[in-house]
Amino acid sequence: MTTNITDEKISRLEELFAGLPGLGPRSASRIVAELLTTRRQDAQRLCQDLSETLASVHHCPRCHTLTTLPMCSVCADEARDKSVVCVVETPADLQAIEASVAYKGGYFVLMGRVNPLQAVGPEELGVDTLLGRIDKEPIDEVVIATSYTPEGETTAHLLAGVLKKHKPQLKVTRLARGLPSGVEIEYTDAATIASAVAGRR
Ligand SMILES: [Zn+2]
Repeated sequence: MTTNITDEKISRLEELFAGLPGLGPRSASRIVAELLTTRRQDAQRLCQDLSETLASVHHCPRCHTLTTLPMCSVCADEARDKSVVCVVETPADLQAIEASVAYKGGYFVLMGRVNPLQAVGPEELGVDTLLGRIDKEPIDEVVIATSYTPEGETTAHLLAGVLKKHKPQLKVTRLARGLPSGVEIEYTDAATIASAVAGRR
């Protein structure tokens, strides 16, 4: 099978992959070539799984992460510590913290971060759901685990203000500064996350 550079269908696939986070034109073109040749079975499965998942995915009503279940597996787990909630930006960050095995509480996923230029504030990030949980559940601590980027820091600052105003006796902590500045949580290794969870303040 020869891949023609000007083939419109193949180019469209390459463009689609190249636009995904973490991928560029080179890796996109390699992925497409593999899916169309040596990994045709994986490609079929990708189509089927993606289409089924798209049909059933939604935000967990409690933590806002993505799930195909009525409630995500973390929220449905009775053994989790109900007194602490960790606020993250994305489902990928949630998974990175889960992989560190250092944290046993619940989560709240912002699905983004505060962006004044695009009029994204705490309300747009669903903070009302989190405040509702603070009223109903025995939560005494919220750990803010947004990234140490300027947007992540702004988000943490605004969120801490909203939380403290809502419930002054709430303990609001931030992951310890072991995390490198400017780095997304999801790209941080498990051991670093574990020490940042332990050293939160
Ligand atoms: Zn959930």
